[in-house]
Amino acid sequence: MKKRYLLAPGPTPVPEEVLLAMARPVIHHRTPQFSEVFKEAAELLKYVFQTKQDVLILAASGTGAMEGSISNLFSPGDEVIAVNGGKFGERWGQISEAYGLKVHWINVEWGNAVDPGVIKNILDKNPKVKGVLTQASETSTAVAHPVKEIAALTKKRDCLVVVDGITAVGVFDVPMDEWGIDVLVSGSQKALMLPPGLAFVALSDRAWKFHEKARSPRYYFDFKKEQNNLAKKTSAYTPATSLVTGLRESLLMIKKEGLKTVFTRHERLAEATRSAMEALELKLLAPESPSPATTGVYVPEAIDGAKFVKYLRDDMGVTIAGGQDHLRGKIFRIAHMGYIDTFDIIIAVAAVEMALKKFGHKVKHGKGVAAAEKILLKGYK
Ligand SMILES: *Cc1c(COP(=O)(O)O)cnc(C)c1O
Repeated sequence: MKKRYLLAPGPTPVPEEVLLAMARPVIHHRTPQFSEVFKEAAELLKYVFQTKQDVLILAASGTGAMEGSISNLFSPGDEVIAVNGGKFGERWGQISEAYGLKVHWINVEWGNAVDPGVIKNILDKNPKVKGVLTQASETSTAVAHPVKEIAALTKKRDCLVVVDGITAVGVFDVPMDEWGIDVLVSGSQKALMLPPGLAFVALSDRAWKFHEKARSPRYYFDFKKEQNNLAKKTSAYTPATSLVTGLRESLLMIKKEGLKTVFTRHERLAEATRSAMEALELKLLAPESPSPATTGVYVPEAIDGAKFVKYLRDDMGVTIAGGQDHLRGKIFRIAHMGYIDTFDIIIAVAAVEMALKKFGHKVKHGKGVAAAEKILLKGYK
């Protein structure tokens, strides 16, 4: 037999409580029983998003809420800024272009965070820009962008800040209302400890005003229609009932742990992982502004990163992620978000050490694990 461990940046492991909740017989969605579950999940999402606004629940992967944000807030010809520091930032720009928006691309070197000064410059020179689109955590490069500073730049302008928080919400502090984030997007299969299939989005008052004026074509993702239905404890179209039942359970777990504790846990796991990789003398992809959701690491020159990641998955049973585009074969990514705790990190670090040895790289057994343990111990009394 081979025991399998999932440490990729989505999908992430699902707790037993959530799996069991989803295993219950399917109930009809237009019933008082389901309405209660739906409403409770939506209320709990407000806690996790740190907002007073409605959080809409959509049957889609995260990209659905990204696309909906563009089609519901902007019109063809509108100008937006896309922070393109990786695959997901690129996606913001591509969706915008698909809807006929004019995109000011900011190309950020992979592994770096965007400099808010660059955004300010573009905003100053282009007063017609109506939106700044960014990730809070760019999963493909393991970087956290300075969302608080970016949000502050848009406050005195007629411009929204639209944040993909898919690997940030429930991982680290991104208080939507406090920071003045206009649109915050998340998805089910990352920090929220669910299978793929749900997307979430919340809009500020300012963003709802943009919605009234936006003329992009839309049908399935119509945020106003969803908000009206949410007020009636339901959704416009058939909701993903089993996933919503699981969502209620996973959000209750997060609430019970407490958001602050959830954030410190993620920070500790991330710090332990980085520390372990440095102890193994491996180079981090994002040393300056690392995301607490995932750690990106350069594979030693002599090793083919794609083979390395495949070996970990197929021979050792440990699934981590490789790199995308020009980083394909050059990096690996260990995720530490969602239903992940101390000993998952020990497994990931030990597996990397052992695989390095198998690939002929010189490592001292246990060096990475020892460094991780030192940090992880801080989580215990
Ligand atoms: C996973 C992810 C997405 C969404 O991808 P889907 O495959 O559509 O769920 C978007 N942005 C970031 C930062 C992500 O990590």
